[in-house]
Amino acid sequence: MSAQPKFFEQVNRYVDRAARLLSLPDGLLQQIKACNAVYHVSFPLRRDDGTIEVIHGWRAHHSQHRLPVKGGIRLAAHANEDEVTALAALMTYKCALVDVPFGGAKGAIKVDKSKYSDGELERIVRRYTFELVQRNCIGPGVDVPGPDMGVGPREVAWIADTYIAMKGGEVSAAGCVTGKPVALGGVRGRLEATGRGVHFGVREAVGVKDDMARLGLSHGLEGKTVVVQGLGNVGYFGAKFLVEDGARVVGIVEREGAIYDSRGIDFEHAYQHRAAGGSLLDLPAEQKLTGSDGLAGLEWPCDILLPAAVENVITADNASRIQAKIVAEGANGPTTADGGDVLNERGIMVLPDLFLNSGGVTVSYFEWLKNLSHVRFGRMEQRFEASSNARLLRAVEELTGASFNQRVFEQVAVGASEVDIVNSGLEETMVSGFHQMREFAASRQADFRSAALATSILKVATAYNERGVFP
Ligand code: NAD
Repeated sequence: MSAQPKFFEQVNRYVDRAARLLSLPDGLLQQIKACNAVYHVSFPLRRDDGTIEVIHGWRAHHSQHRLPVKGGIRLAAHANEDEVTALAALMTYKCALVDVPFGGAKGAIKVDKSKYSDGELERIVRRYTFELVQRNCIGPGVDVPGPDMGVGPREVAWIADTYIAMKGGEVSAAGCVTGKPVALGGVRGRLEATGRGVHFGVREAVGVKDDMARLGLSHGLEGKTVVVQGLGNVGYFGAKFLVEDGARVVGIVEREGAIYDSRGIDFEHAYQHRAAGGSLLDLPAEQKLTGSDGLAGLEWPCDILLPAAVENVITADNASRIQAKIVAEGANGPTTADGGDVLNERGIMVLPDLFLNSGGVTVSYFEWLKNLSHVRFGRMEQRFEASSNARLLRAVEELTGASFNQRVFEQVAVGASEVDIVNSGLEETMVSGFHQMREFAASRQADFRSAALATSILKVATAYNERGVFP
């Protein structure tokens, strides 16, 4: 295997390439690329058996051109400063791309979750949050973390509870973190938001007839085959919504190995089987790979490859063997810069992470807005809309002398609920984001990643200029 540049360096290589499409002063570009601050915390954990262990964590603030900064926290055995910095940079560009008015940040705690009890994990997450509070690295106006690998509503609830306990009386304290359970101020639709955004993004891409013809594919999701890596939050919901819209999962790659079946895999069954403690390898399939050999599953034939687990899985070493026509980057940084060059040369369409997994941060932004406004989306207008729609239907009935069927009446005479509003805001973001990226790419003959990054860089540069940092 060839030596790979560090992850942050990879991101900056992409940024340099995209910046060539623009004409920015070099100093401004250097400021945009630089990571403003990285905090490293270490603290003791008393384990259940009485021994003491030192836990390491990081929080990187890549760019504070807008405040608060935003980015998930991951719990991962491989976490390190380079990875956190690179992921914080991706957050800067991602937020800018989809017009979420936040700077970029990321956090990590270096632990292998499977080796700690629930009580130990709770102590780790709460102490990490305490360390963030001490450094002004968390709060609705400064830094708003969210979920990432290994962090779900339970961990987010510990973070929110610790912050609220330490900042008693702060009126919008619930806006200190997103991805909260609804009872703690979360927004309906956040849990599945990244996967739903992946579906909207892929659906738009496969809906463009000319692009699909160039790839030798029919347009639309119906019948498209998918290989997914990672059955976590992004991989599960992303593939689930693609399947609901007509696609077929033919391959799954996970930690224990990979399975492939050209006739299609019962995706929900495979997910539930794993969730109940089973292994993918127990399931019937035409082909199976065991353990880390499963990575070769990314090379199985399919229309859409959805890497949704970890970074750096498509590299110069395997990119020439990828058979998918579309690589839909659900994970952050799944393709190295060299791997991306090979995919581009081979005419494979890459829907970049920056765009494709931005549904999570988009809905997190909605959650933050809800926390600042202290009102559920739809609360003020839902009933008014429902009765307006009912009045309209009755007026049509009076004019035409005909009556609507009761079921149709009840379906139409409704007002938008919170989840309707959230999903519609998410759909609008992904649909308009895709077409902006595609048009920019077409106008500069650039690939989608460079187009998305160039658009983001311009927006960050504009924000710096607006603040008079570079008059
Ligand atoms: P998760 O912890 O819910 O799921 C990750 C899944 O990947 C797990 O099922 C795990 O077993 C699997 N996995 C881990 N290492 C693997 C390997 N080497 N090979 C195969 N499978 C492996 O995490 P997630 O939240 O779904 O995040 C996945 C990716 O998506 C990460 O890159 C993350 O940064 C990115 N992302 C997540 C969100 C979000 O809202 N959760 C938003 C944007 C981007």
